[in-house]
Formats: sequence, C-alpha cells, structure tokens
Amino acid sequence: MNKLKIIVIGGGASGLMAAGTAAEHGAEVILLEKMERLAEKIRISGKGRCNLTNHAELPDFINHFGSSGKFLRQPFNRFFRDDLITFFHEKGFELVCERGGRYFPRNGNGTDVANLFERWLNELGVKILKGHSVTGLKHDGNEISGVYCRDNLHRGEVVILAAGGASYPRTGSSGAGYQLAEEAGHTIVPVRPSLVPLVPVSGTLSGLAGLDLKNVTVRIYVNGKRKKQLHGEVAFMKSAIGGPVILTESLFVVDCLRRKEQVEIGIDLKPALDQKKLDNRLIREFQNRHQEPAASVLRALLPAPLVTACLQQVGLDPTTQVREIDSKMRAKIRTWMKDYRFKIEGFRDIAKAMISAGGVDTREIDPNSMQSKCLKGLYLTGELIDIQADTGGFNLQAAFSTGFLAGFSAAKG
Ligand SMILES: Cc1cc2nc3c(=O)[nH]c(=O)nc-3n(C[C@H](O)[C@H](O)[C@H](O)COP(=O)(O)OP(=O)(O)OC[C@H]3O[C@@H](n4cnc5c(N)ncnc54)[C@H](O)[C@@H]3O)c2cc1C
Repeated sequence: MNKLKIIVIGGGASGLMAAGTAAEHGAEVILLEKMERLAEKIRISGKGRCNLTNHAELPDFINHFGSSGKFLRQPFNRFFRDDLITFFHEKGFELVCERGGRYFPRNGNGTDVANLFERWLNELGVKILKGHSVTGLKHDGNEISGVYCRDNLHRGEVVILAAGGASYPRTGSSGAGYQLAEEAGHTIVPVRPSLVPLVPVSGTLSGLAGLDLKNVTVRIYVNGKRKKQLHGEVAFMKSAIGGPVILTESLFVVDCLRRKEQVEIGIDLKPALDQKKLDNRLIREFQNRHQEPAASVLRALLPAPLVTACLQQVGLDPTTQVREIDSKMRAKIRTWMKDYRFKIEGFRDIAKAMISAGGVDTREIDPNSMQSKCLKGLYLTGELIDIQADTGGFNLQAAFSTGFLAGFSAAKG
C-alpha cells in the first residue's frame, strides 16, 4: 500500500515535531527547510540554553497567551508539558525546572536540542532537504497537491506549513509563511512585534544603558490614565528599555502606539516604602550626612546613573549640601523616586522582537487537528498562527504542541 506523502515546510520547533510525529504514525515525510541548518531559532532560544516549556498548570499556562490562549486548549490536551518532558526523556535527554517554572535541558543547550531532532527524523526516514525555500503552494480547486521551490514541484497529498513568524529573520523566519497562508485563502491578523524593547523619546534615558533594576513597580499610563501595574525587573539599553516586566507588556504598548495613543512609563524605584516612609528615610539620610553633597547622599538610595538622572530632572545641583535642601525639594526627590516617568514613542523593529504577534487567524484553523478550514490537506503550526505568549517556555511549548497535533492528524488522515 502506498504511504501518505506529507510535505513539511520549515524545520523549526513546530515543523520538526510535526515531521517526526507524522513519520512515526506511518507517513512518508519530506521536510523542506530554506536554511542550511535546521532549527536556527531553537539554537538561540533562551539565550542559547533553550527554555523548552514551563511548569505552570494548564489554566495558568493558557493565561500566558492572553486572548490567543483559548485556541490552544485542544492542542495542549493532546500534547502538553509532561508529554514533552517524556518525549525528551525517551531520547535520553533530561530537562530541569528552574526559577519561574522554566524548563531547560539539564546538560546541554539549544544546539543539542536541534541535533536531537535531526537524529530522530533521520532514524524515522524523514527526507530532509536543506537550502530549499518554498515559494508557492500547488492546489487544484480547494485541495492541496504539492509545493513549489521556484520551478521545482514537490508533490504531496498533505502539506504542513510550519514556516514561523517574522521576528529574527536571520534564523529563516522572514514572514514568507504569511504569504503562503494568504495564497491558501487565509486571513492574516496584522503582524506586530511582541516581547520587544520599547523606545522612549530620544535622549530621555541617556546615561542609563546597561543598568538593570530588580524589584521595581512599573506602571503604564495610556492617554494619562493608569492601565497596567507590574512588579519585577527592567533593563535599560542604548535608547530603549527592556527586561521581563517591559517585554511582558510590550505588545499592549505596541498596540496603543499603533492606535496613536500617548504612552508613558512610570517606575516606582522604592515600592517597599510608601511616601511617608520614604520621606522619613530621606530626612534621616539628610540629617546624618548633612554636610555631604546631594549626589553622594542619594547614592544610599539609588544606583549611580539614576542619581544623575534624578538630580537633573528635579533641578538640583549635585554639589548642593543636603542641609540646604528644603522640604519642597525633598518632596520633588521623593515623588521622582516613586514615579520616574518617561514617554514612550516607539518600539524596536520586529527583527529584534522575540516573537511575532498576529498571523493566521485562528478561526480559520480546526483546533482539533490544526487543519486549514480554507484549503483541504493544509495544516498550520507554530508562530505563524495568531498565538503569542509571555517569556517562560510558553511559545516553544505551543510550537511543539501544534506541531505534534498537525503531524498526528495529518498522518491519520
Ligand atoms: C532570541 C529568541 C529567544 C527565544 N527564546 C525562547 C525561549 O527560551 N522559550 C520559548 O518558549 N520561546 C522562545 N522564543 C520563541 C520561540 O523560539 C519561537 O516561538 C519558536 O521557535 C517558533 O517555532 P516555529 O516552528 O513556529 O518557527 P521557527 O522556529 O521560526 O521555524 C520556522 C522555520 O521555517 C523555515 N522557513 C521559513 N520560510 C520558509 C520557506 N519559504 N521554505 C522553507 N522553509 C522556510 C525557517 O527557516 C525556520 O527554520 C525565542 C525567540 C527568539 C527570537
């Protein structure tokens, strides 16, 4: 009996899982990858350590995807975290759970994960064609029958489109998948960068690059109204601000800016102290060190680069002896520490974003199989779809889960 022939477009997390799963379930599989190596994005994920999944329970896990999470219920019901851990364990690769429930390879990194997948596919007889960029789909009426790599036609009864999003295009995911999906009749929800650093008004953060702040409270104001409040870490970069708290809310800010709304960030640098306690602390420091200049006394409360920013913004000469500071100026300093405000005017390009938000509209995909509702025989997986999550291993788990479900259901027909 002839085997079902399945073509997988893209050898990233979701395509590799789809290809192997389909081959394990009896299909003849060809994997077409445009790069010369598989899984470039897996190799750089988690700063090279590859944060593969997360310990959060299913409802919480789904919450990390915001409104896009609902679609993932079925793929996660079929293949979730424990299945992924078992998958790796059976191949002799152990995962370890770290801070924030993040799972990483115990001994190894993203490159080992990529190599493990390649070995697995080779053992299963998957034909891997690297340096093969798919340029079009072949479909007769509403049924797929193959793909084109320029003039070269590869025939197949089923195609799994796993071409990824548009972030980090040097890893191969340059947005070509969206065009292929559109060619199949799919709607693309506008693609925007997510988990991306934000860009304040030019010059606002000068001198702060390289500064990391832990345990601060970040408030996001839209058109002057407070909309979000989070606690955690922020990182200052050259003319941008990132770190976990900022990245988590970056898509919210990106969408506000796209609607031309005014966005401000306010950082509470002393969240453990209310205004009264902070005032007492300042009075104490100023009394104990009354002959010292403001710049050195404020070092007791702020990292050096922020002392400079604070003094500039409250309009105080750094050499002023603190005994000369009156209660009005002390209130200004206190207010600044509780609400270090700056305006955001943009965000880094999608090429620098960790993931792409938007993509193929989930309403056009059957979540029980990952099959397209627009073109029979086409399945879609991973970041190409309009699903996006926080950092923490959620995005890779979604890629593996949708890849598994597509590979399984495509092979079963
Ligand atoms: C710097 C960085 C760090 C990250 N860290 C983490 C992390 O630690 N944990 C986590 O959960 N997520 C992380 N992510 C996100 C995660 O890596 C992705 O969401 C996930 O890899 C997406 O998998 P995918 O299979 O959908 O797409 P991709 O991994 O992008 O794979 C798509 C593949 O398709 C190929 N392709 C594209 N077009 C064509 C074509 N026309 N023909 C043939 N092949 C094509 C590409 O070359 C690529 O190999 C990170 C992302 C980045 C950029």
